[in-house]
Amino acid sequence: MKVIRSEVIGYCKGVARAISIVNEAIKLGEELNLKVYSLGHVVHNPQIVNKMQEKGVEIVEESDADIVEPGIIVLRAHGVSDNTRRKFLDKNFYIYDSTCPIVLKEQLLVERAPNNSTIVVIGGQNHPESIALKNVETPNEKLIISEVEDIINIPADHDLFVVMQSTFPSGMSRDIFTALKNFATKNNIKIEFANELCNSNQRRRNAVAKLAKQCNCIIVIGGKNSSNTRGIYNYCINQGVETYLVSNKEEVPLHLFKYDVIGLATGTSTPPFVIDEIEDYLIRGKNET
Ligand code: SF4
Repeated sequence: MKVIRSEVIGYCKGVARAISIVNEAIKLGEELNLKVYSLGHVVHNPQIVNKMQEKGVEIVEESDADIVEPGIIVLRAHGVSDNTRRKFLDKNFYIYDSTCPIVLKEQLLVERAPNNSTIVVIGGQNHPESIALKNVETPNEKLIISEVEDIINIPADHDLFVVMQSTFPSGMSRDIFTALKNFATKNNIKIEFANELCNSNQRRRNAVAKLAKQCNCIIVIGGKNSSNTRGIYNYCINQGVETYLVSNKEEVPLHLFKYDVIGLATGTSTPPFVIDEIEDYLIRGKNET
């Protein structure tokens, strides 16, 4: 069996940075004998989260700021609101902020939006990045829209200032952009698209489109709770190639060993050792059968 890796695979820069920040926090925790916490999952990958927990990192929620013993808190790559940051600062936590610089820039753009505009966040209703963008402290009305139908909830009497969750699927966002422009024209209001694009996902998708032409099927490796991993999975399916989403080698379907060429792709938070493990398994498994 031949296994071909996508030309863009593994961590994006923001995730690589977040993981190195967690490791710095763990080191400081050992030096100062302080407990290290992570606010939710720093990145959406089960193996990374397990490894962090093995090193003593405890996952907490915002409401735990009042309960747990103060220590070092790592804020996730998707960003958090100022209010959340303040909660932990007020309780004397050391803060390690792993917010991706691209996400941070988008939060700054929201802060500078004209006061009388409605801020529209295109993204998942429950995605931490969209929620953090919505919770940036400004006087504007803000809402998250995930599909064209949500536009009905936007007030028609204020200009629009639009930002977008960095990993939101581009196909869906194109439809929403068009519908928002039509909404603005119809209501005679201004619209400004201020979304800071992360080209990491687009490069990943382009690489996957190329891979789809070279193999019998694609295995997308990553966390099932990772929206960008699911985005890559759906993108592969849309390319018309048989596709499987797995988070470890145990989940690789056995019937795939009949294929001659398998492609490997990942979301932005899949660790290199998991990719190596699955690649080895596919190659070794073929030799053993
Ligand atoms: S996908 Fe882009 S915006 Fe999101 S963490 Fe990675 S580099 Fe940052």
